[in-house]
Amino acid sequence: MEKIVQRFLERQDLEKAEFAELVRCAADPESADALRARAMELRRRYYGDKVYTRGLIEFTNYCQNDCYYCGIRRGNRLAVRYRLTKEEILECCREGYALGFRTFVLQGGEDGYYTDGRMEDVIRSVKEAYPDCALTLSVGEKSYESYRRFRQAGADRYLLRHETADDAHYRRLHPASQSPERRRQCLWDLKELGYQVGAGFMVGSPGQTAECLAEDLLFLRRLAPQMVGIGPFLPHHDTIFARERAGSVELTLYLLSVIRILLPKALIPATTALGTADPEGRERGLLAGANVVMPNLSPVGKRKQYELYDNKICTGEEAAECLGCLARRVESVGFRLVSERGDAAM
Ligand code: SAH
Repeated sequence: MEKIVQRFLERQDLEKAEFAELVRCAADPESADALRARAMELRRRYYGDKVYTRGLIEFTNYCQNDCYYCGIRRGNRLAVRYRLTKEEILECCREGYALGFRTFVLQGGEDGYYTDGRMEDVIRSVKEAYPDCALTLSVGEKSYESYRRFRQAGADRYLLRHETADDAHYRRLHPASQSPERRRQCLWDLKELGYQVGAGFMVGSPGQTAECLAEDLLFLRRLAPQMVGIGPFLPHHDTIFARERAGSVELTLYLLSVIRILLPKALIPATTALGTADPEGRERGLLAGANVVMPNLSPVGKRKQYELYDNKICTGEEAAECLGCLARRVESVGFRLVSERGDAAM
């Protein structure tokens, strides 16, 4: 095993250059095995064999932003746009509740139709109908005041990946109108407002180096979010990154273990992108330290349209089939899906 890996297992207070060195050890199987073993030990200590489920409702693919990697970016004129009504969202929740989901995630592009007032109405309606469920939002960058209103209306959690903590790299992935400082400030605002917060990044996005990933790890250690979502970058055919290479599954798994060790109690999903890049990606993610899965509760007819990247899995199955399939996959690697809110361990 590499020395820096030993050092990281003992204490996690690495500096940037050391984190970059740690990232480079992903190619060393012995190092990867040692990190995975520690990650599994920690996830078992805090979460046993439980895997939490989040019902993902992709309620709009309209977006005012132009992130270069994303299939639903404003500039993609070929994307077929849709948005769900409040009634349709509630119908997804109804179906999800019956299946045992106790967390709903409302994710979407930054859609001007969904004003703060309309969001508050949706949040209140979901929380009133399902007071025993946690409600997570993932609707991008908003003002402190908007986040405050959503929180007041009953939202419990918020997912906002920082995408990359390296400022120059961030500017390579986004137009000048989007700023890395602003995105990170949103995360600090959300934290201050008492949300359980999820940050995260893509692995292998164009221009990413070991130093970029070192910044990501430093930022995660500083922010100490309750949730961390990472997945491989996957090209989408109608974006300017169409011809870029996909991110590495192996490196993603390695980083899942590193993040579990860095933030032992974090809620970490085995993401759909990981399952898309590798047919066994989600199982391997759980074995690397992940403890959450996020099956799709969106109406089947709309799932293909929420196309962030090519070949996204689970776009054809009913929610119930999707859950059954995942439950079997989770059990195949020795864990069990539970029907609980699944808040972060104290
Ligand atoms: N508008 C919301 C939700 C974005 S979609 C927001 O700004 O947070 C959710 C996540 O999908 C993004 O944060 C990004 O990390 C990921 N994603 C987008 N395009 C992707 C691609 N081509 N490959 C892999 N992941 C992608």
